[in-house]
Amino acid sequence: METRLFGPLQRAVPVIGQGTWLLERASRASAIAALRRGLDLGMTHIDTAEYYGEAEDITGEAIAGRRDEVFLVSKVVPGNASRKGTIAACERSLARLRTDHLDCYLLHWRGSHPLEETIAAFEQLKREGKMLSWGVSNFDVSDLEEAWRIAGPGAMACNQVLYHLGERAIEHAVLPWCEAHGVAVVGYSPYGHGEFPGPRTPGGRVLEEIAAAHGATPRQVALRFLVRRAPLFTIPKASRPDHAAENAAAGDLQLTDEEMERIGRAFPPGPPPRSLPML
Ligand code: NAP
Repeated sequence: METRLFGPLQRAVPVIGQGTWLLERASRASAIAALRRGLDLGMTHIDTAEYYGEAEDITGEAIAGRRDEVFLVSKVVPGNASRKGTIAACERSLARLRTDHLDCYLLHWRGSHPLEETIAAFEQLKREGKMLSWGVSNFDVSDLEEAWRIAGPGAMACNQVLYHLGERAIEHAVLPWCEAHGVAVVGYSPYGHGEFPGPRTPGGRVLEEIAAAHGATPRQVALRFLVRRAPLFTIPKASRPDHAAENAAAGDLQLTDEEMERIGRAFPPGPPPRSLPML
């Protein structure tokens, strides 16, 4: 499993990790077996959140006795992200996860509590040893700039954002900003949350052909494309152990530059989001 440094941290993290949203839709036994199979195969970055219902509790059971192997990430919902609320939410997540610390704690998305308060709480939790680092999620460049102004360089570890073959909008501004500022970019919903391109679509055929040339699968080719360069990471969710094994094998797949360009042409990023008024 390929690893790379996670933003400003001196910590090598696997490029392919594991999501946990809706893990409880499968049987608990299958979900736990999938997470453990993923850990066995090097997918030691596990992403969860207080928002995900039972997922933290399932994760806590899956990693019991193996906490030291895991780069454990959870998130506070914006409604809880006040100065005191963030601390309390973190304590509840730690209890559900049956651990005394997180490796990274994220603000799930921007809400109405001032960012200064959330960041002050994150820094307090860091000083108390309850988290190694903190980050953000679903932040655009103006949000990132604001967090950077408040926290200073090297404080924000990652921005977790939507990134799959059909949704490459982050490549226009968010990804370059994070790259320039040494912030890890963790792409979520790498399979489009269940909307993976089928083999009869033009893009799906490209994935099939490239996969066949490597004895790989189209999903592995897609994951490899999504982590083709620093600072990218990805976190597919699998509640079946065979799915976890398939995902983990993408961590060692090597594609040529030509193949990467072909995938990029088959799934173009589209125009930049129009956030500025047209002059
Ligand atoms: P996803 O990973 O794009 O897709 C999950 C779906 O793909 C599940 O139905 C899963 O099936 C299936 N799957 C996984 N591996 C497979 C394989 N090898 N072959 C066939 N099917 C496979 O969707 P996601 O859960 O939305 O995103 C991943 C993670 O990102 C989440 O779980 C969560 O941790 C994070 N996330 C974060 C945010 C945010 O706002 N920060 C938002 C959304 C997601 P099985 O379950 O049956 O294995």
